[in-house]
Amino acid sequence: MPKRTTIGSWLEDLVALCFPDLCVCCNNNLYRGETLICMKCLHRLPKNDMHYEKGNILEKKFWGKADVERVTSFLRYIKKSDVQRLINKLKYKGEKEIGIFLGKYAAAELVDNDVFGSVDVIVPVPLHKSKYRKRGYNQSRCIADGMAEIMGIPVDEGNLYRAVENPTQTRKSTYERWENTKGIFELTDGSIFDGKHILLVDDVLTTGSTLIACVEAIREKSNAKISVFTLASA
Ligand SMILES: [Zn+2]
Repeated sequence: MPKRTTIGSWLEDLVALCFPDLCVCCNNNLYRGETLICMKCLHRLPKNDMHYEKGNILEKKFWGKADVERVTSFLRYIKKSDVQRLINKLKYKGEKEIGIFLGKYAAAELVDNDVFGSVDVIVPVPLHKSKYRKRGYNQSRCIADGMAEIMGIPVDEGNLYRAVENPTQTRKSTYERWENTKGIFELTDGSIFDGKHILLVDDVLTTGSTLIACVEAIREKSNAKISVFTLASA
């Protein structure tokens, strides 16, 4: 039915002309084939390029505190930059598709990696129940879902949970932040993660204290290997 296809695509073009999809970064019209972020903005995103760098600057934040295989982060978090705006939209404006999209984009660089490519399951850093209810979704889960699709592995949300609401972290030193987050996560069933290589996923890595607390909670009950991925790092 070639005629219908022609009318279909003509209608599609007409709709696009009246209601163009806009780039979530620069607000310019997206061209055919582009989704969510235009090619120009996508190429401009500041990448960390540290997936293959063992002992990188982020991994060092875990040394002596938590036993991790590898740590990596996709983008550099710069204030008032596109990266900050994208993460704010993902976290506070309900734009979940940004997390899924960037998760997929980042995962495409990880699938062939010797360490990250061997991951068995993705675990997003959990939100506390009250925060989840308020926001309606977990932004780290969105990133994890995008990654899982490309990497062909499952996401486990629920085994690791946040037992205590995150205490306020402002005006605290790195050590105090770390002390402050100890014991706020719990693992329900250690046997689920036994022998697995887990990829912990979060939106932004700053001091690493939240992720360290997650690693400790998983380690306490299982012998899993753990690597860490964040969408951005400050
Ligand atoms: Zn753009």
